[in-house]
Amino acid sequence: MRTQRQVVDYSLQKRAVLREVLSGRVGTYDVCDASPYLKNAARFHGDPTDQRCPICRRENLTLVHYIYGDELKQSAGQARTSAELPVLAMTLREFQVFVVEVCLGCDWNHLVEQFLLGRDGLVGGGDDGQEQDAVGGPTARRRREAQR
Ligand SMILES: [Zn+2]
Repeated sequence: MRTQRQVVDYSLQKRAVLREVLSGRVGTYDVCDASPYLKNAARFHGDPTDQRCPICRRENLTLVHYIYGDELKQSAGQARTSAELPVLAMTLREFQVFVVEVCLGCDWNHLVEQFLLGRDGLVGGGDDGQEQDAVGGPTARRRREAQR
């Protein structure tokens, strides 16, 4: 996504947790603790992947995108599909996205990454007419005629 910025990747932390589980230092009970809310979010707003769950290796992981930010008002903290994010990114100035992977089989869950989205991330602010020219909207056409 074009406006994605300040990405924080949690794959190192995830690998560390998985190492602890594989070595037996941490029980699966401690890491497979997805709440009913998270599982519902995964079921209704999640993005299925073809990545196998690292714990049970039976189910594929589902990615849940949680959105946070003042502009979202009552929608803050809700889950959105990845398809809905670009639309929000063009509407709002800035909001935070947390991506969580969930296994609906064994309840494994872990934060994958977080990042900011929103129009504030567009180069040049996005209001300088170049965007309109690219789309070929009526404003751009009028401006070109005026230049002749
Ligand atoms: Zn699993």
